Amino acid sequence: MKNNQVLHINVDVYEDLNFLEDSDRSLLLKAIEISESAYAPYSNFLVGAALELSCGEIITGSNQENVAFPSGICAERTAFYYAGANYPNSKIVKVAVTAHSKQFDVNYPVSPCGACRQVMYEYESKQDSPIKVIMMGASGQVRIMQSIADLLPFTFNESSLKKY
Ligand SMILES: [Zn+2]
Repeated sequence: MKNNQVLHINVDVYEDLNFLEDSDRSLLLKAIEISESAYAPYSNFLVGAALELSCGEIITGSNQENVAFPSGICAERTAFYYAGANYPNSKIVKVAVTAHSKQFDVNYPVSPCGACRQVMYEYESKQDSPIKVIMMGASGQVRIMQSIADLLPFTFNESSLKKY
């Protein structure tokens, strides 16, 4: 016997950042600003991430590459781990992610990589409230999703490790 499952995921798409509500746009602008600090000599893909915490703090991060490729880390994890280390009691309300390159166009909403989705889901699960995700490239459309879980269907989570 076989069943077919169809997943429904809500994605809001805005023509550009001018159509966003003020708090989302200002967080995205922080992500754009911090992307300038990216150390990305290998990919030339400069990524910025900005988090809004429940305490009101804004945490930012950019990608930090390394000649030993796996030793580098993405902008999202730079920011999430900083928030986890320094604001362990605050919830992460939303994250804005953006990227640009001086060598090629990034005119589509960038998506967090699989490893970052797993990490972000851990924080969403831990705080038991959704984290809104705002995604943009260097220009063009903005994609918004209301939770990390929407970005990572069939998550690997703690229930997989429970012993019954
Ligand atoms: Zn990543």
